[in-house]
Amino acid sequence: MTSPVPVVLVFLDPAFPGGRLADASQPQLMVTDQGATRGDGVFETMLAVGGNVRKIQAHLDRLAGSADALDLAIPGQDEWRRAIATALSEHRVQNPAPAGYELVVKLVVTRGAEGATAPNCWVQVSPVGAGARRQRETGIDVILLDRGYDSDAAERAPWLLLGAKTLSYAVNMAALRHAHKQGADDVIFISSDGRVLEGPTSTVLLAHVEKADDGTSVKRLITPQLDSGILPGTSQGALFTAAKAAGWELGYGPLEPQDLLDADAVWLISSVRLLAPVNHIDGKPVGTPSVQKELTAELNEVFAGIQ
Ligand code: PLP
Repeated sequence: MTSPVPVVLVFLDPAFPGGRLADASQPQLMVTDQGATRGDGVFETMLAVGGNVRKIQAHLDRLAGSADALDLAIPGQDEWRRAIATALSEHRVQNPAPAGYELVVKLVVTRGAEGATAPNCWVQVSPVGAGARRQRETGIDVILLDRGYDSDAAERAPWLLLGAKTLSYAVNMAALRHAHKQGADDVIFISSDGRVLEGPTSTVLLAHVEKADDGTSVKRLITPQLDSGILPGTSQGALFTAAKAAGWELGYGPLEPQDLLDADAVWLISSVRLLAPVNHIDGKPVGTPSVQKELTAELNEVFAGIQ
C-alpha cells in the first residue's frame, strides 16, 4: 500500500504520552474498523501556518461536541495537543520548509474495529493542495443544490447529526462531483423550505455595503442561521469576531437564494481554503467584481490576524 501524498501519522495511544508515530504508507487499521465500514466517527480539518495550528481551541471544542453527539468517548484535549505537536515536529524533520508554509492537520476518530471498546484516534499532517490555494485567488463558480430536508430537521431529528462533523461525507462528496460534472467548482445547499444552508465543506458568507447618512459606508457580513442544520464553522466564528472588532456589522439569516444574488459579495469560507470568492451562482454573476475584490482583500487581512 502506498501513500499518494506525504503524510505524517500519529496515533493517540495511552502507552505513548506524546502520541505514537506510525508509517502512513503501511496498513494501520483493521478492515472491520467502523470508520471505514460505516463512516462512523468524527473529524476536524485544520490549517497550520509556519508550524502553528490556527483556531486550535475552536477545532478541539468542535471535535469534542461532535464526539459527544455520537456517544464517542475520546481522549482529552491535552492528549490531542501533544499528538498534534509530535506530528508537526516530525513533519518539520522530514520536510524542512520555509517560514509561513501551510499544512493540513487532520484529527480523526473512528468507533474502532467491530467489538472494540475504545475509538481509534489519530492526527495526520499533509501539504495543502494547489487547488485550494488557487481558488482563494481566482474565486469559484457554484451551483445551488437541494439538500432534501427542511431547516428545522436538525432540531426535530437529532439522530441525523446535522451539526456534527462526522466521517459520513459521501453525500457531500457526491454533491461536489455533481457540481464538477456541470462545470462548476462548488455547491451551496438549499433546504427543502428554500433556505440557504452551507457548502459541502464550507460556510456561506455574504456582504452588503451601504452608504450611511453621514457619507460613511456601513459594511455588513451575514451568514445563515447557525441552528438551521449546518455545521457551525470555526472560520466563520473567528472571522465574525475579528470583523466586528474591525467595525463590520454582523447578521445571521434566514437567507434565501435571492439574497445571495443581491449581495455585494459572497464567499465560501473554511479552514484550509480560507475565503473563496463566489463569482457565479447557477451561471449568474454575483456582486460587483471591484467591490468583491476590495472586500475580499479587507477580510483576508482581518482573517490573517487570527491565531
Ligand atoms: N460546513 C461543512 C459541512 C464543513 O465540512 C466545513 C469544513 O470542513 C465547514 C462548514 C467550515 O468549517 P471550518 O471553518 O471550521 O473549516
